[in-house]
Amino acid sequence: MSSASSVRSCLRGRTVVVVLIPCPHYQSIVRYHISNIEDHEGWVFYKCTNHSPTGCAFWFWEMEYVAYLVDAHFLVGNQAVDVVRATKERRGEVIKTRNGRKRIASRLATDRVAMARPGSLQQNMSR
Ligand SMILES: [Zn+2]
Repeated sequence: MSSASSVRSCLRGRTVVVVLIPCPHYQSIVRYHISNIEDHEGWVFYKCTNHSPTGCAFWFWEMEYVAYLVDAHFLVGNQAVDVVRATKERRGEVIKTRNGRKRIASRLATDRVAMARPGSLQQNMSR
């Protein structure tokens, strides 16, 4: 299997291989992407290279894509079990990391509010 037809990732020392299947509708390639929108930052998704509002509808978050692969028997047996487990763990890690970053961001915002209190600014200006 060439690297173009699968995505290999490492999770706790195990290599997890997610196959990239040809899109069932347009026979074009399905590709791996990482989301950078705020609500799903770092989430992996897969979509057809022809995907667009008027084109191909093939677009899945990683977990849904993996479920699709299992349903369609692209992933079977132990490999399916491994990939499903690794995908769930990865989503858990991404959510944990994102929540950690959010906590830091809200703490920084609180600090800024404390520093910018009108009272303290006026005191500084009158001195
Ligand atoms: Zn397609």
